[in-house]
Amino acid sequence: MRVKVTITCKKCGERFILRARKDQGKLETGFKQCICDNSSMFEIEEIPV
Ligand SMILES: [Zn+2]
Repeated sequence: MRVKVTITCKKCGERFILRARKDQGKLETGFKQCICDNSSMFEIEEIPV
C-alpha cells in the first residue's frame, strides 16, 4: 500500500512530505533525520493516495 506522509519535526518545526510504503501496518518512509539532527521526535501523519 502506498501512502504519503507528512513528517513534522517537533524540534524545529520543519515539514517534510514524502512517499512511503505501508506493509502489514509497518510504515517505511526511509526518513532518517531532520536537517536539525533530530532523529526521534517527529509527528507523522499519513495521507492515503
Ligand atoms: Zn528539525
